[in-house]
Order: sequence, then structure tokens, then C-alpha cells
Amino acid sequence: MQTYWLVISLHFLAQLGAFWFLPYERGAHEFYFEVLLYPTLLMAAVVIIAQLIDYSASKYSFYSLFMAGTIIAMIIIHLNMDIRIIGALMLLPIFASAIFYRLDLTLFTSALQAVAFFVLYRWDFWFKYFLSSFDLIAIPIFLMVGTLVAIIMIINGRELASDLEATLTAKQDLLIENAIMRKLSTTDALTDLYNHISFHEFYDKALEYGDQGAPFHLALIDIDDFKMVNDKYGHRTGDIILARVAKVIRELISPADIASRYGGEEFAILLFEKSFEQAAEIAEKIRLRLSDTPHEEMDGAVVTVSIGLESYMQGTTKEKLFEEVDTLLYAAKHSGKNKVMTPGSSMVFT
Ligand code: GH3
Ligand code: MG
Ligand code: MG
Repeated sequence: MQTYWLVISLHFLAQLGAFWFLPYERGAHEFYFEVLLYPTLLMAAVVIIAQLIDYSASKYSFYSLFMAGTIIAMIIIHLNMDIRIIGALMLLPIFASAIFYRLDLTLFTSALQAVAFFVLYRWDFWFKYFLSSFDLIAIPIFLMVGTLVAIIMIINGRELASDLEATLTAKQDLLIENAIMRKLSTTDALTDLYNHISFHEFYDKALEYGDQGAPFHLALIDIDDFKMVNDKYGHRTGDIILARVAKVIRELISPADIASRYGGEEFAILLFEKSFEQAAEIAEKIRLRLSDTPHEEMDGAVVTVSIGLESYMQGTTKEKLFEEVDTLLYAAKHSGKNKVMTPGSSMVFT
């Protein structure tokens, strides 16, 4: 629509320029009214009607848009029939329609140009008068070739677009698949914590950073008497409790920490960016929260955990640290369970 207004304005200025600066056969009155004012008003009216249709019945906006374009082209051709190439103006709506990538729309526009050409030829005396027999053949051929080119553009464009879409979809699918595979291979489905394998990867990394002077702490958590939970309330309830314990752990650690389900009812946690006291506090919070959380599925009973916790010391090996923490966990179990056990006996919570 904006383009139409531009064309109308340019045509107005071009006519005015032609009248002022070029030899012109018609009188001023005839020029101002019949060449300048009436056609411009008519073209403006056409655009306004097309705009109204666009607002009120957007389903037909394309058709009204190109009808308007064709009528404007006809008026300009009618006024400038003495310019030989003016018939080529009808190619413009055909090419413009191709940008919508719809064959039906381009064919519609092309048919519209054929009708316009016929109407001008049949009823516009001056247009016919200036049309040579060559033009009479050449213009329809021009329009047909133009339509063909537009159709080829549409078909090629469509192929390109569908190829592009297929490539993009395939790429997206692959990304999603990768993400799912990665999640499946690194996490435990029941608890949504990292699995045994990824724990070891993180543990290796933690030791690397530890060697470079970044301290971390390792905690092992084992649910107390979990066999009894299974035996008394069923394996399914056992699963629910496992997931709930995992949730409590996830809630109480900080975002920098890594929690994993190390084995059946055992969890390993790597705690980063905190002092030993802060790590011990988190371990104690987990123990306390669980011993305070009754489970409906277990008739309101609670499950408790035993925890071993130790900080990484430079020079310690991966295995040594793990064994030491496991020994602390063992000690917690053997001194009554529901305990956090650390190397310093004063740090033992009960
Ligand atoms: P302790 O206090 O000494 O740790 O006693 P416990 O009963 O917790 O330890 P034990 O090693 O004897 O038993 C662990 C139980 O955990 C046995 C096993 O059936 C159960 N378990 C392991 N993995 C799962 C699981 O994925 N789901 C369920 N429901 N139970 C599990
Ligand atoms: Mg246990
Ligand atoms: Mg165990």
C-alpha cells in the first residue's frame, strides 16, 4: 500500500514536470483536470478502498491489493500510452505477487494483467492507436514470460525454504535428542540426582581443583534401616522415600554442590566454596530435616540417615578420601545411626 502511494505521488510529480518542462500538446485546463487531478483522485480512491478491504476483510486483502495495483497500472498506462515501454508496467504486479510464494496468487495477478491489457486494447482508443502490431504480440508474450519467471522463482524459493526447514528441524531434533541422552546417561531416573558414573567424573574434577588450592568436602549419606522400610511398607514405598530423601538433599545443598545417588540407598555429595563448618552444617540440616519428616506412606514414621563427612586435604588420593569418609559413615552406623560423623570427634552431631 505504501508503494502504491509512492507510485501515485511519483506519477503526479512526473506529470507535472513533463507539463512544465517538456513541450505539451494539451491545454493547461485539460492537463490539470484530466491528466493530473481526476486520475490522481481515482488512484487514491482505489488505494483507499483496497485499504478498507484490508482492514475489514483481511481474507481478501491480497486480491484487493493486486486489483488496486492493476487498476493503478491501467490508469498510468492510459495516461501515458504514447510511451512505448509503458505496457511493461504490467509486469510489476506479477513480480510483486511472487514475494508471497503462492502460485495461485501469482496466477491470479497474471490473469488480472491479461484482462487489463484486453480492456485497454478494446476500450482505450489512444492506447490502441499507439500500439504497434509488434507491441500487440510482444506485450502479451512479455507478460507470459514474466509469469513463467515468477512461477520458477516461487517453485525454487519453496524448495529452498522446505530444504532449510528440514535441515533446521533435523538439527533441532538432534539437539533435543542429545540433551535427553545426556540427561539419561548422567542422572538417575528415580531421584533425578547424578548417577554413580557422573559422580566419579565430578569427583575427578573436584580433586583437580583441590590440587590447585580450591577446597571441597565429601559427604556420604546412607539411609538407616532401609531394608526394613522395603520389608514393612513395600518396594514401591521404598522408591517414594528414596525420591523424597533426594529432594531434601537437593533443597538443602547450595547450587555449587553436586549430589548424586551413589548406590541403592546411598548418596554422595561434593560440597564446594564453603568452609568445613558450613559443610557440616548442611549435613546436619539434612539429617535433622529427615528425622523431622514423617511419611504418610509409612503411617507417619520417619526415616533417618547416617552421614560421613570430610574435607579434601592436598596430597590425599581419590580412594583414600573416599575410604576415610566411608569409615566415618560406618562409625556413624555403629554408634547408633542418625548421626553426622566427621574426623574431629567434637564435630559429631547426634
Ligand atoms: P543400614 O542402616 O545399615 O544402612 O541398613 P539398611 O537396611 O539400610 O542397609 P542394607 O544394605 O541392609 O539394605 C539396603 C536396602 O536398600 C536393600 C535394598 O533392597 C534397598 N534398596 C536399594 N536400592 C533400592 C531401590 O532403588 N528401591 C528400593 N525400594 N529399595 C532399594
Ligand atoms: Mg542403609
Ligand atoms: Mg547402604
